[in-house]
Amino acid sequence: MKVKSNSLFINIFFQYIVIIILLTFSLSVFYYQMIKKDYLNNLKDELRNNLLIINELIINDYLADNHQSINNKVNLLGKKINKRITLINLDGVVIADSEEEYTKMENHSDRPEIIDSFNGFNGESIRFSNTLKLNMLYITMPIMSNNEIVGVLRISYWLKDIKGIIKIYQYKIIILSFVLFILTLIFSFYVSKKISDPIRELSDVSKDVADGNFNRNVILKNSTDEINILVDNFNLMTNKLKNYFEELKYEKEELESIITSTRDGIIVVDNSGKIVRSNQSFSKNVGIKSVFGKYYWEIIRDSELTNFIKNNSKKNNSIKTSLVKEIVFNNKTLLCSMNQLLSNNGYVFIFYDITDLKNLENIKKDFVSNVSHELRTPLTAIKGFTETLLEEERNKNKLKYLEIINKHTERLINIVSDLLILSQLEQEKIDEITIERFDLIPLTLNIINIFEERLSNKNININVETNDKSLFIESDPFKIEQIIINLVDNAIKYTDNGDIIVKLSDNEQKINIEITDSGIGIPEKDQARIFERFYVVDKSRSKKNGGTGLGLSIVKHDVLLLNGEISVKSRLDNGTTFTIILPKKIIS
Ligand code: ADP
Repeated sequence: MKVKSNSLFINIFFQYIVIIILLTFSLSVFYYQMIKKDYLNNLKDELRNNLLIINELIINDYLADNHQSINNKVNLLGKKINKRITLINLDGVVIADSEEEYTKMENHSDRPEIIDSFNGFNGESIRFSNTLKLNMLYITMPIMSNNEIVGVLRISYWLKDIKGIIKIYQYKIIILSFVLFILTLIFSFYVSKKISDPIRELSDVSKDVADGNFNRNVILKNSTDEINILVDNFNLMTNKLKNYFEELKYEKEELESIITSTRDGIIVVDNSGKIVRSNQSFSKNVGIKSVFGKYYWEIIRDSELTNFIKNNSKKNNSIKTSLVKEIVFNNKTLLCSMNQLLSNNGYVFIFYDITDLKNLENIKKDFVSNVSHELRTPLTAIKGFTETLLEEERNKNKLKYLEIINKHTERLINIVSDLLILSQLEQEKIDEITIERFDLIPLTLNIINIFEERLSNKNININVETNDKSLFIESDPFKIEQIIINLVDNAIKYTDNGDIIVKLSDNEQKINIEITDSGIGIPEKDQARIFERFYVVDKSRSKKNGGTGLGLSIVKHDVLLLNGEISVKSRLDNGTTFTIILPKKIIS
């Protein structure tokens, strides 16, 4: 909706009008008063000059008391200069008057201007003339003879004549003021428009911009001032906004098509847990067509996930949290990766359908376990018969071949039993482990005894170091035994002579097991991979020692099952240290 408002223009224009009216009025009054005052002063000066001249013309007749001559002169001069001339003696008696019969005129000694001149001053007054019945301006001067006042000469002017002349000035001032008023009005109209037009245009366009129409720019015809700069900046801002919005639109479309086309299910939930965005793959994953507006827990019924989000929301922290976990849903296994959105405390869930992968993995595990199981019986039989043959055979050549067969059969049996252990481990779950409270020190010492013969054969010393007499732990003793056996076995395997130290320590919540040897060490590039299945650093050496490359993967599997951590530190030819940190109390 467009609102065309002229209020700014009206406001500015109205203020101009008020100022113009006030200024014109006060200037007119001021000029009128000034002109009036000036005119009166000039008139008074002129009248005084007239008096001086008249005084010169009649002084002799006055002193000689020649009344007739004075009256003639006064009448003549009065008519010539169109002013009334009066002569008064010291008794206030009128001696001559240019307008009236002087003998009939009353005594003038009480007139203020006459009194002033009796006192030796030039007098003046504006008042009503009883003789002429008109308002008059009177100017008087004393007639002097031998420095003495001998009478008063008065000149009078009709006020109506003065007013007439002043009215002409007044009229001129009014005309001039009116012209000025009109001109300034036109000017202020133009100025008001010049200020208000661009601002109105700006507000129109900004309204459009707010409505999302970035295609309009403000165009000013002839403005070079700050408003122009403002308009330029506004246009620049609009164009930038337009670009940003286009970029955003593009990014949004891009994201939209990624979300729609991806094979993984995606949902976005707001801070209340409502689904605000989803894709088709998710609907397919969960088998529900419309999920929009539903709460995620109505669809993904997983208590661990729901509790995690609930606890996380309570924390109200500013650190982004995430969770990855497998969810079994509609006979499908989904790997759910959840990430928190810090901007609105919502979450993004991505669901990878790993059902096929899981099935494949299970088939593989079953296959490995079945094959290992099936192979064990024939291999044990081969080993038994080979050993019987070895005992009975006397031919050296045949004995050599039989020993090779025996060695490889042993190796095969080792691989098969390691594979069996591994597949059993992989099928185990945390609730299938047996938790007991036991002392780790006697358990470790018992393990060391198993290796006694091998240790003495290889000239290797093994020491168990501990600060305490007992180290109690609540965990699975069989798994821990398996871990220590494997690591000590490796330490002996890969050390030719030297010491092996098994260090046991603890703190409030954790137990530390450190197994350090002084053997061949592991190259740095291989350290990250030694826990992988079948990974061996030096194949020939491993084979010679009967290694399968499965020992450390079993160890790692056990450690993770017991909620622990394992790390390795090693320098080539300088020995290796495996560190295992286990919780003192395993929480299942
Ligand atoms: P293997 O049965 O071959 O010993 P493991 O999984 O137990 O298999 O170990 C993987 C590889 O890590 C071994 O082949 C060996 O090269 C290396 N390794 C393991 N323990 C040690 C050790 N204490 N010193 C040197 N190398 C080791």
